[in-house]
Amino acid sequence: MLEVKGLSAWYGAAQALFAVSLRVGPGELVVLDGLNGAGKSTLLQSVIGLGPNVQGEVLFQGKSIALWPAYQRARLGLGYVPEDRRLFADLTVQENLLVAARAPWMPVRGQQRVSTKQQLEQVFALFPALRSMHKRRAQEMSGGEQQMLSIARTLMTSPTMLLMDEPCEGIAPVLVESIRDALLQLKSQGMSLLVAEQNALLAAHADRVITLVAGQTGAHLTP
Ligand code: ATP
Repeated sequence: MLEVKGLSAWYGAAQALFAVSLRVGPGELVVLDGLNGAGKSTLLQSVIGLGPNVQGEVLFQGKSIALWPAYQRARLGLGYVPEDRRLFADLTVQENLLVAARAPWMPVRGQQRVSTKQQLEQVFALFPALRSMHKRRAQEMSGGEQQMLSIARTLMTSPTMLLMDEPCEGIAPVLVESIRDALLQLKSQGMSLLVAEQNALLAAHADRVITLVAGQTGAHLTP
């Protein structure tokens, strides 16, 4: 599904990734581990097309997408949940979800068409807490609730693969468990997941844990 081969990345003259390679198959959960500054965010941003200058190969659904703009990668089925969530603070939960909804005439290749109402139902079924607060403004939610909304909003774009940047960071343990359970449910439905995360709760369920050390792939550990 996703294959990264020999990916290097630079911010100006400073190199942040050094020939990183990894693979995420259909329905697999791969966790990217590593200290702050190791290059996890840079790798995810390079895959979605929002990152620095890159060299190397990024293959998704058999297509070479390394030179594609981010919106085309999203249309092919890549969903990205950024570390800072980027919600619309003044909009309600439901409004944040609706602005992201994929237009019904633009289905992801190979997926069934679903109405916006069905999409909303699906994300509310995954995160029941969001249903009960659907009229609340994003700015009035806790960090963990905002994180759920950020994931749910990305799901409204009907991705087949999710790239997530530290979804459990700084979140109350009970909400971390809810997020883990939701991600495992998505995985069981066939979603591929590449998650930068230092919280061991998610790594315990990973097909592979890939450790980045100073922009390089360290050990490939299977828990
Ligand atoms: P964190 O968990 O702290 O976000 P990370 O593992 O995601 O860490 P990156 O944010 O990808 O690491 O950073 C990798 C390297 O690239 C670091 O040396 C960092 O200082 C550098 N870097 C990241 N973003 C930029 C930027 N916009 N401009 C210049 N250098 C950057």
